[in-house]
Amino acid sequence: MKRYFFLFIFLFCSFCSLLSQDSNRVELLRKHVYTLAHDSMRGRNAGSKENLVAAHYIVNQFQEIGIKPFFDSTYFQNFRIFTNVACRNIIGIIEGNDSLLKNEYIIIGAHFDHIGYKLVDDSVVVYNGADDNASGTAALIELARMLKEKEGHLKRSVLLVAFDAEEQGLYGSKHLATQMPIKNIALMVSMDMVGYFKKSKKLYLKGVATIKNGKKLIESIEKPEHLKLQTERFELSVWGATDTEPFAKLKVPTLHITTGLKSPYHKPEDDADRIDYIGLGLISEFMAHFVEEFANNEKVKPSGKLSPKHDKDNALFQWGVVANIGESSLLYSKSAFRSGKSSFAFAGGMFMQFNFNFIALRPEFLYENKSFYFPSTLHYSSDPVKINTQAITLPLSVLLKLEFYSNSYFYLGLGGYYSYYFQAVKNGKFMDFSNETYHHHAGIQGSIGINIHQISMSAVLRNELTPVLKHSPIVRDRAIFLCVSYSF
Ligand SMILES: [Zn+2]
Repeated sequence: MKRYFFLFIFLFCSFCSLLSQDSNRVELLRKHVYTLAHDSMRGRNAGSKENLVAAHYIVNQFQEIGIKPFFDSTYFQNFRIFTNVACRNIIGIIEGNDSLLKNEYIIIGAHFDHIGYKLVDDSVVVYNGADDNASGTAALIELARMLKEKEGHLKRSVLLVAFDAEEQGLYGSKHLATQMPIKNIALMVSMDMVGYFKKSKKLYLKGVATIKNGKKLIESIEKPEHLKLQTERFELSVWGATDTEPFAKLKVPTLHITTGLKSPYHKPEDDADRIDYIGLGLISEFMAHFVEEFANNEKVKPSGKLSPKHDKDNALFQWGVVANIGESSLLYSKSAFRSGKSSFAFAGGMFMQFNFNFIALRPEFLYENKSFYFPSTLHYSSDPVKINTQAITLPLSVLLKLEFYSNSYFYLGLGGYYSYYFQAVKNGKFMDFSNETYHHHAGIQGSIGINIHQISMSAVLRNELTPVLKHSPIVRDRAIFLCVSYSF
């Protein structure tokens, strides 16, 4: 009986110590998020002095935990953006113990910068960025603490990176990606927005298909009881980009770990009191098991597959679908009228795009349906006649691209097109191509647009240079379209 009593006491004490370890972790996570997302940090904008204060906070934590700096004497990896704004990544390392595998890296990143503050009527509105991404930064620090205890038991080396200038355009991760021996990176992870587990009910791991047998491997990892995982093959979101991107584009296996877009994203309400700290504790705990598995499993290999999002942007060749809606009208050169009444027009089809740096060549293959009004006499002396045409139109444009964010660019397009009218109807009657109108038409076109990853939107003007009607050589068609296209 006594024996059981002692066993009970022993079990009870281990349970309590486990519990206090967990609650201690939750309190530390809370402290990190409240510090980093405090109003005094003014939103940690890259290049600001508050951002530097945040950076020193992370450095102090790494030092206290006993994480070695990646560089000889400093955790800082300095770089500049926008000609002269000083920024820095903070990098700590836990060296691997295997003579061969220690040269391979598992990079665990979380960006610590956010978007700063703005002045509204002389008062400061701070974008605290608690979920984005004080949450990921806090998880990084506590992960460092747990991994420190495993030091000497990890085969691969682990880099713990707090990235700077993510919000401005992934500059911190771009910088590190250019400085690392890419072949030696076994896996790169970005913990970005991990503070809303209570709401998301799942932790998403996006990009498992970039790792050979990634899904199986991840599902075999030990995880806290209440943590639910959802793996996704690839990062696909068109709008969201995180620090994985510069690495993924260099064909490194990458994972974005997140509780999703549940917080008031890029709003002043993204505050520390809304974060789910217990969930954040579970996520940090899981990440410690995760890193242990990836650092030690010799079978971790790239699958060779990439998210279409990451692949497409590097691609020389793209193709996809395009839809246009707009209006069409007749222009009367050298006449008393400048233009006739317009009517609805639409087009749709496929496009191809050949990318050469900041220039692209874009042929399209479209079905085009246009209507316009034509006066039965040239001087509008009687009711206008409605004409509808159906055509196959083949535009070809040269695009001039101006990149403003990774894989996102404005563009100007200039080119021409050929149209084959296969049907024309005037007031409900088929027109005669031998006598009234032509099959072959051609014109010039101009466009202005914006492309964000796989989606592009533009305004296009198509001006015909050939006449619409055989007996009225001065009458030409002009169409304006709003275009949306999606590349696969
Ligand atoms: Zn973020």
